[in-house]
Amino acid sequence: MKYISTRGQAPDLPFDDVLLTGLARDGGLYVPDQWPTFSDDDWRAMRGLPYWEIAVRVMQPYVAGTIPEADFADMVRDAYAGFGHRAVAPMKQMGDNLWLMELFHGPTLAFKDMAMQILGRLFDYVLTQRGETVTIVGATSGDTGSAAIEACRDREAIECFILYPHGRVSDVQRRQMTTVPSDNVHCIALEGTFDDCQDAVKAMFNDIAFRDAKRLSAVNSINWARIMPQIAYYVAAAVNLGAPERKVSFAVPTGNFGNIFAAYAAGKMGLPIEQYIIGSNSNDILTRTLETGTMSMVPVVPTTSPSMDIQISSNFERLLFDLYGRDGASLTEAMTAFRAEGSLTFGSNQWEPMKAQFTGFRMDDIQSKQATNQIHQQTGELLDPHSIIGLKAAEACRANPSVPVVAMATAHPAKFPAAVEEATGVHPALPPRMSDLFERPERFTVQANDLAGLQSHISDVLTMRGPS
Ligand SMILES: *Cc1c(COP(=O)(O)O)cnc(C)c1O
Repeated sequence: MKYISTRGQAPDLPFDDVLLTGLARDGGLYVPDQWPTFSDDDWRAMRGLPYWEIAVRVMQPYVAGTIPEADFADMVRDAYAGFGHRAVAPMKQMGDNLWLMELFHGPTLAFKDMAMQILGRLFDYVLTQRGETVTIVGATSGDTGSAAIEACRDREAIECFILYPHGRVSDVQRRQMTTVPSDNVHCIALEGTFDDCQDAVKAMFNDIAFRDAKRLSAVNSINWARIMPQIAYYVAAAVNLGAPERKVSFAVPTGNFGNIFAAYAAGKMGLPIEQYIIGSNSNDILTRTLETGTMSMVPVVPTTSPSMDIQISSNFERLLFDLYGRDGASLTEAMTAFRAEGSLTFGSNQWEPMKAQFTGFRMDDIQSKQATNQIHQQTGELLDPHSIIGLKAAEACRANPSVPVVAMATAHPAKFPAAVEEATGVHPALPPRMSDLFERPERFTVQANDLAGLQSHISDVLTMRGPS
């Protein structure tokens, strides 16, 4: 399998280089040069298999040629072995032909683990083969740092530094990062805001000498290897609900468009999907785009579903690439205009097929809170502020009641306890395997918001950690 950039100016790369590179050199995102397709018999043969086996089959064509099948299968089995539910991604029936797929049984209680647990192992495997190491540096406002840490912990070829704003992340979020007892994980509480953390990370990447000397790398949401593992759960849901004989629809609480793009990829691979439903909070650029045909940037407003608080959805470019006929030059022109003007009006060649495939939905914090309470009253289920948007989007937007619709639950309610308790009056408990989170010892260093100081801290730690 070869990968091409959505901007058409970067070299085609095999899977392992795409994994380590992330963003393409021309500013584009890597996509497979063609979608592998599966036959009806292939889908049928997946019914009832353990989750990890479905995942291996779905991902195999994407890594073929770079990772031997047996090694890859070991990696995938191992990645999901530590999940807190034996089904890995169990489904719950919430109504007639209405399902919830729980993607939050990984180590950090959010769906990012579904991909991150694979990504960390892939990095380690490819780096070890090449005799290389990397230093992962990332900034977090609290929600996603722990997924990166859990992906990197104890991986021999990786050192991992995560910056978070000191005193500005919740106790659960901080402890999910600082209680990981792995020597290659380094939490930095920066005396500043999340923006300061992000600026510091950007500045380190822009310091070419530092970046090269420390072999800095990132595990950000545009990496193809973050999308690929997510395709598997759409397949698992669909085949277990009767695909390929029956179509299914999916509803996804969406931020950077990574998760819903994985559903689209499953469709491209031949899975019969009826509707792709996009749930947004008040940061609704995608829903507005579907309604108006114009994609326009407006400032981000903070909501109770922070992982969906985005100004633009970076992975949307992967869909646009297809809608522009896979023509990197026209997409580059469109994206350059969008960056310059903050807005882009699509022609009917893009907008019509976009509207035909995707349905948009939005819900503000007040509606989310009411819906969370209502679902709890009706079903006893506690949904986190992201998952409730997916479920409500599924109910509101399904076009055909005889087609099963699956809403993606992207976080465990205990990951966002304050919002859940405010909506329902019930404090969501941590799952048993994490119930001692507040007794575990913490490890972090507080650093001033000063680039030179941060860089010398990182250098010192790397030197202490051994030869590089
Ligand atoms: C990251 C995240 C999302 C958004 O997913 P995208 O792939 O960025 O669209 C939704 N819910 C939760 C809980 C998340 O962590």
